[in-house]
Amino acid sequence: MHDQRILLAHGNGGRFMRELISDIFARHLANPALDTDADAVHLPGLAGDIMVTTDGFTVQPLEFPGGNLGSLAVHGVVNDLAVAGAEPRYLTLSAIIEEGLEITLLDRLIASFAASARENGAVVAAGDTKVVRKGEGGGLYLSVAGIGLRRATATLGMRHITPDDAVLVSGPIGDHGISVMLAREQFGLTGDLRSDSASVLPLCRAIWDMPGLKFMRDPTRGGLATVCHEIVHATDHGLILQQVAVPVRDTVTAVCEILGYDPYYLACEGRVVAVTSADTAEIVLDRWRTLPGGQDAALIGHITNNASRVILETELGGRRMLGELEDDPLPRIC
Ligand code: MG
Repeated sequence: MHDQRILLAHGNGGRFMRELISDIFARHLANPALDTDADAVHLPGLAGDIMVTTDGFTVQPLEFPGGNLGSLAVHGVVNDLAVAGAEPRYLTLSAIIEEGLEITLLDRLIASFAASARENGAVVAAGDTKVVRKGEGGGLYLSVAGIGLRRATATLGMRHITPDDAVLVSGPIGDHGISVMLAREQFGLTGDLRSDSASVLPLCRAIWDMPGLKFMRDPTRGGLATVCHEIVHATDHGLILQQVAVPVRDTVTAVCEILGYDPYYLACEGRVVAVTSADTAEIVLDRWRTLPGGQDAALIGHITNNASRVILETELGGRRMLGELEDDPLPRIC
């Protein structure tokens, strides 16, 4: 590298770009089994039920306690495949890099992307880099597509949800939202909270075979409350959450009280919300609690006949409506 920071020349198609790709992207991501001479690559071994998803990642700051943009981008895409019942096989990566980004930071983020992809059994099959002028980007944006094979034997979909079904969450909510917010240091608050950013593939894989499993979603932007709204809108049923049952860490509660946030709307990046038949719930919780990230799994509510409402039963026995999110409490969280 001729400079410690990204130059516009790193995106011009010439020598600097070739070196950037070979020194960072190819070094971390290349897979010798893929024939990458052509402009499009053939993906071997994709017989069966193929699933695809895509997502863009713009989190600020690029590194935060418990994760970074690189690992978060893999988790985001792997988790969308996992909750849909699919095992990730291939990823693509498009990187929009801002002029002036430290090359060592770029290297750390792409190394982290590569390590997370490997941990989840996914091969990076195609990629692209672009450089934009200083001030036109947030350091680095990643756009990622994921291709997977459906492995779940349970038939998943909101259309299978019926009244009395159980609503479960795999762990405490809001850790990601609050840790990223603390990492920005804009409110003068600090804390040792870490993001929950993680692959939920092991948690999902552990219950893919359960006939009583009806639906899963990872509560990212908009948090648990938003997933609940998606469920009630799609099904015309209602949903009741028990406040005492929803796991929330003390730090998250404390920061929410100071800043007026509601933990139910905060992003998670390593949690699963599942809807199961009532008699399946305890089996799912038993399996989750033996797995990393699943120790605090809980039954947090159930589906009702009460059309399209999300109700929170409070600790004191009161009820409050959880409305649909309108403004964005924490922009650029993922
Ligand atoms: Mg998702």
